[in-house]
Amino acid sequence: MRIAVAKEIEVCERRVALIPDTVARFVKQGVEVWVESGAGERAFFTDATYEAAGAKVITDTATLWGEADILLKVSPPQERENGRSEIDLLKEGSVLISFLNPLGNLSLAQRLAECKVTAISMEMIPRTTRAQSMDALSSQASIAGYKAVLIGTAALPKYLPMLTTAAGTIAPAKVFVIGAGVAGLQAIATARRLGAIVEAFDIRPAVKEEVQSLGAKFVEVKLEEETTAAGGYAKEISEVSKQRTQEVVTEHVKNADVVITTAQVPGKKAPLLVTENMVAQMKPGSVIVDIAAEQGGNCACTDPGKDIVWNGVTIIGPINLPSSMPVHASQLYSKNLSSLMQLLIKDKALQVNFADDIIDAACVTHAGEIRNQRVREALQAFTAVS
Ligand code: NAD
Repeated sequence: MRIAVAKEIEVCERRVALIPDTVARFVKQGVEVWVESGAGERAFFTDATYEAAGAKVITDTATLWGEADILLKVSPPQERENGRSEIDLLKEGSVLISFLNPLGNLSLAQRLAECKVTAISMEMIPRTTRAQSMDALSSQASIAGYKAVLIGTAALPKYLPMLTTAAGTIAPAKVFVIGAGVAGLQAIATARRLGAIVEAFDIRPAVKEEVQSLGAKFVEVKLEEETTAAGGYAKEISEVSKQRTQEVVTEHVKNADVVITTAQVPGKKAPLLVTENMVAQMKPGSVIVDIAAEQGGNCACTDPGKDIVWNGVTIIGPINLPSSMPVHASQLYSKNLSSLMQLLIKDKALQVNFADDIIDAACVTHAGEIRNQRVREALQAFTAVS
């Protein structure tokens, strides 16, 4: 049984799938671990530290991918320079575990099925208590929420906390967080620690208590429809509800010094919550950090990957925030993978057990088939349209 850790070739990706501490634990269990040379470099883990942990460092990418029983990655597989995809390197029957964005990248899911790879998507790990230690969406979203506040604070031409000085009193800054899921709650906690006055809004009323327990004010909007879908995620809301939401949100955006937007609906484009008209009403010098930039953005002015100034307001659309903190992002992701692999390795051998609800939910392709129903439905809908 051989686990292999790939070097990420996505330009913005600095994380590594396994850190040396986790490697050492697998080696102790009698599992062979291969690590591609330089895999941990951008997260400050050297080849030497992997070797010291008992891994074999491999310089040839094709050997590493082609001889792995379980291939571990962070970003979805990419096209390689020579026009071939990374997944073409995998052997039939091997297991690939990574973020795969299967609902947003249907052709990748199709290709993985064609290659007869067992693909496990970290986005599809159920958000259940039993799967909590494997929940990479949460571990990484929490980093994004934290970092968004730091970026917003650094761009703000003001203090965040209240200060009483000999030169006068500084009023605390106001931070408004839109979307109080994992990233939003971490953003609230971080902004509170920095001394800001924090307000938060989410269409799921269930988060009210969590927001309040972090010392923030929950902005309530009464909607005439169910806003929570199965699994606790948000639903896409009607036009009437969107309008109602925007009316309430406008006032809070207008008064905020920093707006952090994190709202997402799984499998859909991020909802547009901050309109151009709202940005136009903000004070010059205010800042918006749109964590949903990669999914289309919650703010109409967001340009993904760029910082722009519009009407005196700085709008930041960061891409892959967790990668900007690669040490802890890799440490947490590595722990998520190691917990998941306890379900896949039995007596030092690979065992894919679909009777386990976590494996069943997260496995996108197996033995040439697309197993995941949501991905199958999305593919059928796509085929019907095209
Ligand atoms: P997410 O990234 O999908 O969305 C972020 C937030 O945006 C959510 O809180 C959502 O309600 C909100 N949102 C969506 N549309 C909105 C709109 N129009 N206006 C305002 N807000 C909007 O969410 P997530 O952080 O991945 O969390 C999703 C769910 O999973 C939550 O219920 C969370 O509590 C739950 N969860 C459970 C576990 C567990 O039990 N182990 C672990 C993590 C998360």
